[in-house]
Amino acid sequence: MATSDKSKSTLSVPQKALMKMGLLRDIDLALHLPLRYEDETKLKSLALSREGENIQFLAVVKSIDVAFKPRRQLVVQVEEIIVSSESSLVTAGELCTIRFFNFYPSLQKTLAAGQRVRLRGEVRGGGLMGKTMMHPSVHSAQTPLPEVLTPVYPTTAGLPQAYLRRAVLTGLDRCVRLGAFSETIPQTFAAPGLWPLSKAVQFLHEPDPSVSVYELEDKSHPAWQRLKAEELLAQQISQLIAKRERLELRAPKLDGSLSLDLMREELKNDALIGTQADISIASITKQLLEILPFKLTNAQSRVVQEILVDLKKDTPMYRLLQGDVGSGKTVVAAIAATQCIDSGFQCVLMAPTEILAEQHFKKLVGWLSPLLEKRGLCVAWLSGSQKKKERQAMLEVTQTGQAALVVGTHAVIQDQVKFKSLGLVLIDEQHRFGVAQRLALKDKLIDLEPHLLMMSATPIPRTLAMSYYADLDVSTIDELPPGRTPVITKVITDQRRAQVISRIEAQLQLGRQVYWVCPLIEESEAIDLTNATQTHQLLRDSLPGVVVGLLHSKMPIIEKKEVMKAFTEGKMGVLVSTTVIEVGVDVPNASLMVIEHAERFGLSQLHQLRGRVGRGAAASACVLMYSSGESGKLSQTARDRLRAMAETQDGFEIARRDLEIRGPGEFFGARQSGTAMLRFADLSTDQKWLDWARNLAPILLDQFPTLAHQHVSRWLGNKLEYLKA
Ligand code: ADP
Ligand code: MG
Repeated sequence: MATSDKSKSTLSVPQKALMKMGLLRDIDLALHLPLRYEDETKLKSLALSREGENIQFLAVVKSIDVAFKPRRQLVVQVEEIIVSSESSLVTAGELCTIRFFNFYPSLQKTLAAGQRVRLRGEVRGGGLMGKTMMHPSVHSAQTPLPEVLTPVYPTTAGLPQAYLRRAVLTGLDRCVRLGAFSETIPQTFAAPGLWPLSKAVQFLHEPDPSVSVYELEDKSHPAWQRLKAEELLAQQISQLIAKRERLELRAPKLDGSLSLDLMREELKNDALIGTQADISIASITKQLLEILPFKLTNAQSRVVQEILVDLKKDTPMYRLLQGDVGSGKTVVAAIAATQCIDSGFQCVLMAPTEILAEQHFKKLVGWLSPLLEKRGLCVAWLSGSQKKKERQAMLEVTQTGQAALVVGTHAVIQDQVKFKSLGLVLIDEQHRFGVAQRLALKDKLIDLEPHLLMMSATPIPRTLAMSYYADLDVSTIDELPPGRTPVITKVITDQRRAQVISRIEAQLQLGRQVYWVCPLIEESEAIDLTNATQTHQLLRDSLPGVVVGLLHSKMPIIEKKEVMKAFTEGKMGVLVSTTVIEVGVDVPNASLMVIEHAERFGLSQLHQLRGRVGRGAAASACVLMYSSGESGKLSQTARDRLRAMAETQDGFEIARRDLEIRGPGEFFGARQSGTAMLRFADLSTDQKWLDWARNLAPILLDQFPTLAHQHVSRWLGNKLEYLKA
């Protein structure tokens, strides 16, 4: 296939469609494998066929007309012919009417009266009205029957199967001739029964009709097994390469040693002044631990140790910190930050939304500012909505290094932001960020690569972690802080709104606060708004004397902050909101969460939302209110989701079920490329190939590096760059 720099406009529609699908190189085409197959190798008698059957038969055209009623169509009468024993053609007498709503003059020519044709399609009708066939595929009767099953490829608008099939077969042919499928897996490591790649690929494009169609379709056939093994191996090798490349990078050793020097300095000064030596000589990390109002859980202490070990190395950390909502990731991040600051480097914390970033800011300022101030350092805040002057001042302290910690939204990765010495990047709710954004942060340091810690409340099920995130080290907080009461979850129909409102009243009377979440439908912000404002009004009317606030995505950020502030400070009883509170908001006094149209939310979203309550000591509840709509019925997946929510509170279990309901394709927003990478392997059935690939990847890379690289580039080509993100 031409990957030439011909301008796009000179390309035909199907060529453009091929490009759009990323089918540029011969190898891409050859590895574009069929979705399913059609058996066109056999004929079946029309006379013996039943309604609904898909058949292929020979016929002679009796008449052809263009009719105009009820709409313009080509109407062709044919009579079946069958091959007699002397292989001459004999008419069988069974008649059939075939119709086309879309047709070209060439079709009229092929179907001229008296022509013999081979037709393939679904039989309809019968009886008195006679059999009919809509839009059958048409070949001249002279065209020999195919000898292999006909592949049907995944395609897109403007790319007909026939065109795609030709392109694929041409690409395949060239690949086979040029040896593009040469083996990259040395014989000794090939699993028993593993087909050679070249044989497997060719077979899948042109399978012998004797093969079990079932084995092809459920991908259990050895040819498919080879491709699954092949792509899982490519995934493992590419991630290992990325990991090793990172190990080549130099990162600052964040061993807290600077604070030792500082301590000595300060000791001298303190000796002169003779005051408060104890507190001021301690590292900021130690001081932070002392001022925390709680003791770290065992799980928190363990992950802190894992992180500190990484930070002390001179290769960059690349670690995911996962822990259920409310498991206390923030304080772990804060300790990583102080370790970095103690070592004389700056730390940046990025959060996906302004509200969340501001919450972090306040929390971290509260903890760290007093400690930093003693060293002449500060915490800087960067956001898109801040005033120019303030922003300028923040940029300046960031550049001079006075800001030991910089907290913000995407604003922290903009070009104007210059760090003096960035040592650690913390990313909260990492799945919310795209790959490109993470890349941008990595570019900040010129000579040293900062350590990276990503946090996520959506735990990755083990198989996914082993496959998509094989290059990432993972720390898991698998324990909630003590004193949390489980959140009772109720699933009810929205017919019982009044009951829910009285429940709210009861909570308010106990001095608790309540969240009421309305769905956010991206295509229709107007509807959302009506939904949220109507609910807001309804609750105001039903709860006189209660402060009911409204928070939605279209509000100016200043107003949003005021609303959040009132709620956080306990001045507001009920907060009606679209999903803006989804991640990270921490108001321990809130004890009831009502989610309206719960059937429209994804499972992990529901889990995140529910995590907003049950953060304090009070017994908490989550009401999932669903509307069964006009059909009066919930979809199966909606029902599965709501059931999962009612049955479990364990984030890992939720993630596992989510994976089961949705499949890995949708599991990660951020790692699109990684997801696209596994086109054939299915982690729920192909664990053995994943294990095989994980074992083999380091061996290949060490002992047969050329083969390993060849293997990866064959599968991933230009997608490789993204994996490094
Ligand atoms: P998440 O992991 O969802 O980001 P947070 O860091 O926001 O969780 O912590 C949730 C709440 O738990 C916060 O109010 C935090 O101060 C509190 N918390 C964190 N660690 C502990 C602990 N070890 N003991 C008691 N409370 C804790
Ligand atoms: Mg958090």
